Amino acid sequence: MTRSEFNGMPLVPGVAAGFVVVQKFHDTEVPGLKEPDGAEVTREGQVAFWKQAQERVLGFLDGLKSKTLAEAGAQSAAIFDAQQMMLTDPVLEAEIMRGINEGMSARDAVIRTTESLIARFKALDNDYMRERAADIHDLKLRLLQAIDGAARGRNCDDGSSAKGGTIIVAEDLTPSDVALLDKDALLGIVMERGSLTSHASILAKALGRPAVIGVEGICEAVQSGSVVIVDGDDGKVIVNPNPDEIDRCERASGKSDQNVRRIACTDGGGLFVKTSDGKRRVELALNIGGPDDLGAAQRLNIPGINVGLCRTEFIFLDRASMPTEEEQTGAYVDIIRSLMPGEVTFRVLDVGGDKSIPALRLPIEPNPFLGVRGIRLLLNRPEILKTQIRAILRAAAAAGTTVRVMFPMVAVVDEWVQAMEIVSTVQDELCRGGNSVDWSAIAKWGMMVEVPATALSIEEFAPTADFFSIGTNDLIQYTMAADRNSPTVAYLYRPMNKGVTRLIRQTVQGAHAHGKPVSVCGEMAASIEALPLLIEAGVDELSMAAALVPSVARAVSEA
Ligand code: PEP
Ligand code: MG
Repeated sequence: MTRSEFNGMPLVPGVAAGFVVVQKFHDTEVPGLKEPDGAEVTREGQVAFWKQAQERVLGFLDGLKSKTLAEAGAQSAAIFDAQQMMLTDPVLEAEIMRGINEGMSARDAVIRTTESLIARFKALDNDYMRERAADIHDLKLRLLQAIDGAARGRNCDDGSSAKGGTIIVAEDLTPSDVALLDKDALLGIVMERGSLTSHASILAKALGRPAVIGVEGICEAVQSGSVVIVDGDDGKVIVNPNPDEIDRCERASGKSDQNVRRIACTDGGGLFVKTSDGKRRVELALNIGGPDDLGAAQRLNIPGINVGLCRTEFIFLDRASMPTEEEQTGAYVDIIRSLMPGEVTFRVLDVGGDKSIPALRLPIEPNPFLGVRGIRLLLNRPEILKTQIRAILRAAAAAGTTVRVMFPMVAVVDEWVQAMEIVSTVQDELCRGGNSVDWSAIAKWGMMVEVPATALSIEEFAPTADFFSIGTNDLIQYTMAADRNSPTVAYLYRPMNKGVTRLIRQTVQGAHAHGKPVSVCGEMAASIEALPLLIEAGVDELSMAAALVPSVARAVSEA
């Protein structure tokens, strides 16, 4: 077999050698759908096909959202929120119904409507908007699969989703294709087309496997079972590499994990990486969205790495009643134990905005992101906060370690003071429970900086808070007045905007003036583009999904 080399654009650094699985272009066409008795489908039947398909794709996207949230974090998962919004857009719905009323099949009406939207997005004079065409293309394919499946009682991802395994080679992948990949089996990704800023690429980056895009001719050159090397450092793909190259690659890819351990140290708790001039030491920590993320953290295999953000919403979701103190304690103990000796930072319940907890039966607000969110709800319903704090402190005691606890969405000092009064009450109650635990020393107490007013008045909080964690996902949306999940205002949602970066600097300066450390735990923490700024601003810790730690560690060591 002849060796050949292809060049493309590096998307995710690292090298991997493996067997190819070719991800085929979706071919969903099922011509001439008929009713079960063989009759032509009526207009009502077409409407039913469309409605069922819409329902199925919405449900399918819910599944992708949860998987992506667990594997890659909230900002990546928001890609599928945006797709759900597009799918329920009244203009799109009306256009599809118009097609059906004109006598088209549901399938043809979906094709006409989505293709005209794709053409409109592609014509826009803005790279970001042009790339949204790919999201509509993704929706179109899933809808067509669902329409064909609706007629045959199948799901919208039957037979078409990329099965994980070795190295995926595709002409192009849609965001949902990437989200469906089995991360455990995946070694690398190669795309013949693709763009660096597409949603599929953003999701591929979060998977953290070497990836190269824009590799012209690769689909012709390989078939499932071919052996390739993906070189995400140099943007190269080698088909049928010789044994020496495979050997070198395997040593290099083994090294990339050891690399983290070589360039970082975990002495004294926490994973620290030095910048190339040796002048700065930055801590890298993990974001955990619940027990599903523990596998990824363990695979990283860096004992002692801390958790900079454990979102506790997981234990409140998808249930009819609130979790008891015992249930919560058990769940928190499991998390603490599986990450020891690393220390876990629990963020207490951050509900509201786009996160809803059915068990709370909260009223619908006109502007949920500006309404009763985070600490506002917890202070309105102190019994929820008390139960959760008791559970976290008891979990730390049961595991025989310390934890950090932080509050979301703090906007004014009074909220912080009230929250800490509740903490004192809980500590007093636990002390009265009579055992030898020093409840006042078992946790450090901090807050998220997500509201611009908090960043601007950080000196008021700094004397009494133990630490700060900048939630850039929200800080950016509130600074720019741009919904973090809206594709239409995404051009404003920019981490590197001067207003945002000034708030970050100001937070670090104000906190450091009182000797308090600052972490960044939003998606910006893993942005290689933002890294020099965050280091220069003096941020002490960057917290991110486990899969992103190796590439950020390397970037810090080279900064
Ligand atoms: C943030 O806002 O950056 C953050 C980490 O919190 P969440 O994404 O859970 O709102
Ligand atoms: Mg937030």
